[in-house]
Amino acid sequence: MTRLDPNPHSPHADADPQYRHLFPTPVFFPSPPPGALALAGCMALAVVPEGPLVEADPDGELPEGLCPACVTAMRGGEPPARPVSTCRACQSPTRHDGLCALCRQEAHAKWWPTRDAQSAPAGQALAPLPPEFGPAIPSKDSPYYPTQITVVCDHCGAEDTGDYMVREDMTRAERLAVARQRLVETKGWESTADGDDFCPEHAAPST
Ligand SMILES: [Zn+2]
Ligand SMILES: [Zn+2]
Ligand SMILES: [Zn+2]
Repeated sequence: MTRLDPNPHSPHADADPQYRHLFPTPVFFPSPPPGALALAGCMALAVVPEGPLVEADPDGELPEGLCPACVTAMRGGEPPARPVSTCRACQSPTRHDGLCALCRQEAHAKWWPTRDAQSAPAGQALAPLPPEFGPAIPSKDSPYYPTQITVVCDHCGAEDTGDYMVREDMTRAERLAVARQRLVETKGWESTADGDDFCPEHAAPST
C-alpha cells in the first residue's frame, strides 16, 4: 500500500503537516498551480504539490497518509468546523487560526521563491501522487485558482464567506475587491468607494 508524502512545507500553511491534503477541483475551476497555497478539502490551507494533479476515486481504495478530513469532504461529508478568530494582519474574521487565507497566501507567495535557501523539514519533499492513484486531469494553464474570502458588514458585522477565483499575483486588496464586487452583483450587498461594506439588510436602497 502506498503511503503519500505530506504536502510541501510552508510556514504559512495551516493544514495538518503530517498528512497529504486533497484539493477539490470543481469541473469549471482550473487546478491550483503547484507551489500555491490553496484551500484543501478540510478547509485548511496547504501547498499544492508539483507534478500532475490526479483524480481520486472517492469510493476506491485510497493510499495511506491522506488527511482524514479531506477524505470525508471528498466523500460528500462536512469538513470539520474551525474556530473563528481575527486576522492579526488585516482584522478580517478568519477560520485560519489568527491569520486569514488572504494574508497567508500573500505571505506564502513572497516566501515560496526563497524556500530553497531555507532547510525544509525532513520528509517534506515535493513528491507527486503516484500514478496508480488515478487518471490524470489534463493540466490547465490558467493562473486562476479558488481561495476563501470573507466580507464583513461594517454596520452589523454580518459575514459572507465564499470561494473566489484569484491569481497568485493579485494583492490582498485586489482579491478582496473580487469578493466585494461579486456580493454587490449577486447578493445585494453595498460596497462604498471608501472601503465600507454593507450586508443586504444595511445596504442603501439602490437608486
Ligand atoms: Zn486536509
Ligand atoms: Zn488577513
Ligand atoms: Zn449589516
